Amino acid sequence: MRSFAVALVHSPVVGRDGSPITTAITSVDVHDIARSARTFGASKYYVVHPVDQALGVVSHMKKHWVEGAGALRNAARSSALGLVHPVPTLEEARSDFGPDAEIWVTSARATGSRPLLSHDEARARLAMEGPPVLFAFGTGNGLAPSIMDSAAAQVAPILSSAPAPYNHLSVRAAVAILLDRIAGVSR
Ligand code: SAM
Repeated sequence: MRSFAVALVHSPVVGRDGSPITTAITSVDVHDIARSARTFGASKYYVVHPVDQALGVVSHMKKHWVEGAGALRNAARSSALGLVHPVPTLEEARSDFGPDAEIWVTSARATGSRPLLSHDEARARLAMEGPPVLFAFGTGNGLAPSIMDSAAAQVAPILSSAPAPYNHLSVRAAVAILLDRIAGVSR
């Protein structure tokens, strides 16, 4: 099986008016996605943000849970937060994870220019030998086109069978669902 990591991208992402923006890091995204990443066997969880102070907050949070009082209080949470790596750019995450790592992007829409992998295809590819995979998830209104268009592949959106699907999953929910489909135990 190929090793894989998760990246939560805060810049560049799409703003409400379609322009590229930078979003704020939220603690719940750091914790919840670290727990999903740890559950499904990710090697690392990159929190991508261009501002040093924001990355410093993440480093401080990680230190508390991995070396500080949090580690004494909650070993399981400590183990998840140990996967967290704050980095300024997605490219830095990729070069840290492996210069040959492939970026697979995600979105609620299947409108990207990259090859679209169904969840089964993504699962099958991950199970084979090959370069590591970095799953990139966005914030705001999704990953910027510059990221979407330069990725190795896009994983197909999670879709609802509801008659008028409301497709506005939180990124935390999207990560958990996709990692379960691609790296979870199939039932
Ligand atoms: N409208 C945005 C889009 O199309 O990506 C939704 C942004 S959502 C708040 C943040 C991130 O969660 C997305 O960038 C994507 O990584 C993930 N996400 C949200 N809904 C998803 C879905 N239905 N399928 C796959 N990923 C999804």
